[in-house]
Amino acid sequence: MTSDHSRDSLVFVPLGGVGEIGMNLALYGFGTKNKRQWIMVDCGVTFASEEHMPGVDLVFPDIGFVEEERANLLGIVITHAHEDHYGALPDLWSRFKVPVYATPFTAAMLEAKIAGERGRSPVPVTEVAPGGSIKLGPFDIELVTVAHSIPEPNALAITTPLGTVVHTGDWKLDPEPVIGPPTNETRFAEIGAAGCKAIICDSTNVLRDGTSPSEGDVARALKTVIAEAPRRVAVTCFASNLARIQAVADAAADADRDVVVVGRAMHRVISVGRMLGLLNERARFVDENAFGYLPPDKAVLLCTGSQGEPRAALTRIAFDKHQSISFSPGDRLIYSARVIPGNDREVGRVLNALVDNGIEVITDQDALVHVSGHPRRGELEKMYGWLKPNAAIPVHGEAIHLNAHARFAKEQGVPDVVEARNGDIVRLIPGPAGKIDETRSGRIIKDGRLILPENDASVRERRKLAQVGVIMLAFAVDGAGDLAGEIEASIDGIPAVDADGGAMIDLVLDAAEDAIGNLPRKRRFSPDKLRDIVSRSVRSAVAEVWGKKPIIHVHVVEI
Ligand SMILES: [Zn+2]
Ligand SMILES: [Zn+2]
Repeated sequence: MTSDHSRDSLVFVPLGGVGEIGMNLALYGFGTKNKRQWIMVDCGVTFASEEHMPGVDLVFPDIGFVEEERANLLGIVITHAHEDHYGALPDLWSRFKVPVYATPFTAAMLEAKIAGERGRSPVPVTEVAPGGSIKLGPFDIELVTVAHSIPEPNALAITTPLGTVVHTGDWKLDPEPVIGPPTNETRFAEIGAAGCKAIICDSTNVLRDGTSPSEGDVARALKTVIAEAPRRVAVTCFASNLARIQAVADAAADADRDVVVVGRAMHRVISVGRMLGLLNERARFVDENAFGYLPPDKAVLLCTGSQGEPRAALTRIAFDKHQSISFSPGDRLIYSARVIPGNDREVGRVLNALVDNGIEVITDQDALVHVSGHPRRGELEKMYGWLKPNAAIPVHGEAIHLNAHARFAKEQGVPDVVEARNGDIVRLIPGPAGKIDETRSGRIIKDGRLILPENDASVRERRKLAQVGVIMLAFAVDGAGDLAGEIEASIDGIPAVDADGGAMIDLVLDAAEDAIGNLPRKRRFSPDKLRDIVSRSVRSAVAEVWGKKPIIHVHVVEI
C-alpha cells in the first residue's frame, strides 16, 4: 500500500503576486511530501509606498522558504521583463545562485538594468528562444508565445511525469501586437487536446467584459493624434512597451517629425530593441539636445514618467526643472499609459501642472492611446476553451480579481477551482487539485543597500519620526550629583516656536533643567532615573504647547 507521503505529486506554491498585483514569484515542486524538487517561475518586485514605508524603495516576497529548499531548487524561469516578474533578481539571485532562463530580450534587459546600477554583480542567464524548451529534473518546460505589452512574453507549459500544467504569465490576445507574433493559439489548443491538468492564469482584467483592443488600434490612434498636433507633441508611456515606442516612432515618421528620447529607462529599452533588431528602421531617434532647435512641428518627444515619478523626465519637464526640455502653451502631451493604483496623486500632480501651463493633455479618455496587456473575459474564455483544464488557480490579482476569476472558471466548467493566496501549497496533480498545506510567506524590503524584514523596527520608527519629530538632550553630572556644564539640546521635525512665539528649544531646556533641579540630590546618581525624569518632563512640556508627543532621547554622562 502506498501512503500519500510516498506518492509523487506536483504542487504549486505562490510566494508573491496572489492577492496583490506585483512581485510575482511562484514555485512548482515535484516529488513526495518530504522530498521535492523545485523550479521558480518569475522573481518580481513591488514598489513601496512612501507613506507606509518612508525611504524604502523596493519590496520583495519573503523568500525564506526558497532559501530552506535551495539545495532542491533546479532553476528560475522568467516569463517576461516586467519589474513585477523579474525586478527582484538583481537583489535576490545571490541567495539562490541557480541557473536563470529567459528569452534574449528579457536577458538583455536584465543585463542593461544591472549595468545601469553601480555595484551590482551580474546575474548569469541562459537564453532560450521564444517557443523553446528547458529541461530541469522532472520538469519539461516549454515557452509558449503570448502577446502582452513588452517584447517576448511567454506562457509556460510545464510537463512532469504526472502530466502538464500551464502557467500563463501575463498575456492577452492581440491579432496585431506591432512587435512580435500574436499569442500562439494553435499551440494552446494542442496542449489542451493532449490534456491540461491545470491552468495558473492572469486575473488582472477579469472584471472587464469583452476583448482588449489591439496595440495596432493604439498605433493608428497615436498616428492621428500626432499628425493633428499643431505644435510639439510629447508622449509618455511605460518604457518597457517597445511596441508603443515603435508606434510613436512610426507616427512621427509619417508626420515628418523626429523622435527626441528623454529618460534613462527609455534609452535603455530602445538600445536593447535595436541591438536585437526588434525596432524597424523607420524610427528616427535624435538626441535630447535637438529638442531646442527642432521646429515645434518637427519634434515628437518620447519620455519616461508616466507614473509621476519625482525624478522622471515628464515630471521635471512639467515643473520646468529639466535642463534641456521645456514645453510652451499649445504643445500636446499624450498620456499613453494607465495609472498604476497608488500613483494617482503623483500622476494627477504632473498632469495638472501641465494643464496649468497651457499644455493640452490627451489620455485614453479622449482617444485610444493606451490598451492593457492583460486578458478580458472574452479572451480568458478562449484560453479556457483551448486548454480545457481540470483545475484552475487564479493568480496575478488582488482578492477581488481572484474571486471573480474563480467564479468565472467555474462557469467555464472547470472541475477544481482553487482560490489560493501567497504561501499556500496547492496540489495540482494528482487531482482533485486543492490546498494541502501552507508555508512561510510575506514581504521583505530593500532599504538603502540592506534587505530587511517588512516589519523592521527601523521603518516603524521612521514612520513615527515623520509624524512627531525628535528631541535630543545631552548633559553631564559630576560626582556630587550636580550638572556639569550646560545641557545640550536639538529639536528636529518640531515647530520652532509655540503659539505665543516662545522658542521651543528654550521650553525644552527649561523643562530639562527644572526636572534635574527638582530631583533630590541623592537620586541624581542614577543615570537611568535622570534620563527618565528629564524625558518625561520635556515630553509633557512640549505636548502641552504643541498637542503632540515628540520622540525624546536623553544622553547622560557621569564625570
Ligand atoms: Zn505582471
Ligand atoms: Zn507583464
